[in-house]
Amino acid sequence: MFQILIGIFGSIIGSFLGLCIARLPKGESIVSPPSHCDACGRRLGAVELIPVAGYLIYRGRCRSCGAPVPWWYTGLELLTAGIYLSLWYRFGPTLVALKYAVLASLLLVIAGIDLRTYMIPDSLVLVGLGCGLLFLPLGEVYWPEALVGAALGGGILFLIAAASRGGMGGGDVKLGLVLGLFLGWQQVLVALFLAILAGALMGVILIALGRKRRRDALPFAPFLTAGTLGALWWGRDIINWYIATFFGL
Ligand SMILES: [Zn+2]
Repeated sequence: MFQILIGIFGSIIGSFLGLCIARLPKGESIVSPPSHCDACGRRLGAVELIPVAGYLIYRGRCRSCGAPVPWWYTGLELLTAGIYLSLWYRFGPTLVALKYAVLASLLLVIAGIDLRTYMIPDSLVLVGLGCGLLFLPLGEVYWPEALVGAALGGGILFLIAAASRGGMGGGDVKLGLVLGLFLGWQQVLVALFLAILAGALMGVILIALGRKRRRDALPFAPFLTAGTLGALWWGRDIINWYIATFFGL
C-alpha cells in the first residue's frame, strides 16, 4: 500500500521536475503560469495533469490542437517514481531516504537541462550545496568525510576537465562538490568511477554508431546522476569488494 503511495508521490514530483527542466533554461517561473500546451497555450485540465495516466488517456496529444506532448515528461514521471521506490526499499522510512530523494530529484533536473542545453545552471548547484549542508547534521555521512568528499568530487572532475580541454565543463566540476557533500569521500569515488565508466562506454558506442565524433562534447550530468544512483545501491558492496580484493581484509 505504501509502495503505491510512494509511486504516485514520485510521479507527481517527476511531473514538477519536468516543468523545471522545460522552464528554468528559458528563465521562466516554475510557479506561474499553470501548465499549458506549448503549441496552443490552452491551460491543461485536471485529467491531463495526472502523471502518466493523463498522457495515456489522450494518447500523448493535446486535447484541443492535437500537438504531440513530449514523451520525456511521462518518462521522467515514471523514472522519478521508480527512483523513489528504490530509495524506499534501500533505506526504509528514514530521513536518509528523504536526503537521497532530494539529491536524486535535483540531479534529474540538472541532467535534463544538461541534456537539452549542455549547461548546468549555477543556481541549481547552489541549491544542491545548501541542501547538502542542511542534511549534514543527520550524521549519516560524518561531516569531515562529507567535506573531504566535496573536495575530492570537485577536485577529480576539475583535473579531468583541465585534461580534456573542453570535453567536460565547469558545471560538472561544481556538481562534483555537491555529490561529495551528499555522499562522503568513499561513495563519491564510487559514483565518479561508475559515471566515468558509463560515459566512456556511451562515448565509444556513439562514435561507433557515427552519432558523435571523438571531439564532440557529451553532457556529463546524466552519467553523474546514474553513477550516484549506482553508488547508493551498490556502493557498500563495491567498497567491500575492493578492500577485500586489494588489501585482503
Ligand atoms: Zn494544444
